[in-house]
Amino acid sequence: MRVYNTLTKKKEEFVPLEEGKVRMYVCGPTVYNFIHIGNARPMIVFDTARRYMEYKGYEVNYVSNFTDVDDKIIKKAMEEGVTAQEISKRYIGECQKDMAMMNVKPATTHPLATQEIAGMLEMIQELIEKGYAYAVNGTVYFRTRKFATYGKLSHKNLDDLRGGERVLLVSGEDEKEDPLDFVLWKPKKEGEPFWESPWSQGRPGWHIECSVMSRKYLGEQIDIHAGGEDLVFPHHENEIAQSEACNGKEFARYWLHNAFLNIDNRKMSKSLGNFFTVREISEKYDLQVLRFFMLSAHYRSPLNFSAALMESSRNGLERLVTTAGNLKYLGEQGAPGAMTPQEQEQFEEAQVYVKKFEEAMDDDFNTADAIAAMFEMAKYLNTHVSAGNTKEYVEKCLKRLVDLGDILGLILLKEEELLDEEVEKLIAERQAARKAKDFARADQIRGQLLEQGIVLEDTREGVKWKRAQQS
Ligand code: AMP
Ligand code: ZN
Repeated sequence: MRVYNTLTKKKEEFVPLEEGKVRMYVCGPTVYNFIHIGNARPMIVFDTARRYMEYKGYEVNYVSNFTDVDDKIIKKAMEEGVTAQEISKRYIGECQKDMAMMNVKPATTHPLATQEIAGMLEMIQELIEKGYAYAVNGTVYFRTRKFATYGKLSHKNLDDLRGGERVLLVSGEDEKEDPLDFVLWKPKKEGEPFWESPWSQGRPGWHIECSVMSRKYLGEQIDIHAGGEDLVFPHHENEIAQSEACNGKEFARYWLHNAFLNIDNRKMSKSLGNFFTVREISEKYDLQVLRFFMLSAHYRSPLNFSAALMESSRNGLERLVTTAGNLKYLGEQGAPGAMTPQEQEQFEEAQVYVKKFEEAMDDDFNTADAIAAMFEMAKYLNTHVSAGNTKEYVEKCLKRLVDLGDILGLILLKEEELLDEEVEKLIAERQAARKAKDFARADQIRGQLLEQGIVLEDTREGVKWKRAQQS
């Protein structure tokens, strides 16, 4: 398997630090609103990378954080007159519902920045002791120039960066030793959430959060660190500086970055009025269509969102779903007994599409070509499976197609409807989660049930549920 590494600007053979295991960190969203479809791109493409590595037999420890303390969250809280925590909790729940609808698997761990402050204080202290950081007036800065390889990820040299000095100096940050220094800890402003620290009552800088959460849940060295390309500089560059200065080891081996999603060939922005949340899209389309759309391009190519492209994604996905549905029907009618020699030969022959799929995915997760291989397989199956084939042959063909869909997170065969007792079981699990204050899990179950058309209602007599289509 080869992956493109932003650090070396080359495709490299993927060799994990520990055989058979992958430690992967993906920077997650800042939770101050519903996530937008741009945020959905890294979620979908790196979930797909994870699924493919799992298919190849790797045990993937996948960590993705929620940034739950930030200026934007505080601003929103002030606007609504509620706490920042209330805002972040609400939008983490909403984000998890969107993830479930996009069939993005929950991470092994979803750490929250606000729950990891102690680790951040510790790492900042370590950096100060090693001479990589200093405190002035309650703010702690990273001493950028002391980290000799600063700029290696974004391929910027310090001279380029120095060009920005004047701008930085006028912005009133001259308490820094050097304009290139960045914040590790900042004092609170009136009304902001804060934590005690040796330097001031305040909160961490954004970059230190990821260095700390990555070290805690994955160790000092990890295999893959990923996120959108806007994070290369300064966020990931600064993460490298902090982690490597502190731990004295290479931080991440492979740095993967997805390109941006634009809308009608323009940058998505609220002021241009071309901004969509995932939730808005879910009102018009099954989010499987959004997932198919995201995977129809390579993750490093810019992707343009438009109604026309969503329509063609809907049609593309429909073709695969129809093939799977037909195979299911033919399988139910299939002849008993073992595969015939001719069926065996055909089954063997169609293996070529699995190979094509794997070759595409082995080449830096080329999902566009992997989908093309699935279409070729579907075409082959449409002409090589018919009434009169054995049940065994048809079912094997179907399983092969559905399994490839699964790697991409595309559901080609909808699961059978949940039975009443399964619904009851999930509701009981949700109640238990709520009791244990695991609201994330509780919301996730609600989302999962919603996906199946099951609506929950909290009443005085307890939780009632109904199937949406019956109302
Ligand atoms: P943020 O909440 O802004 O920190 O973003 C969360 C993730 O979404 C990061 O990995 C960003 O790089 C990514 N992201 C934000 N906007 C877009 C976009 N328009 N296209 C692709 N990825 C994006
Ligand atoms: Zn990060």
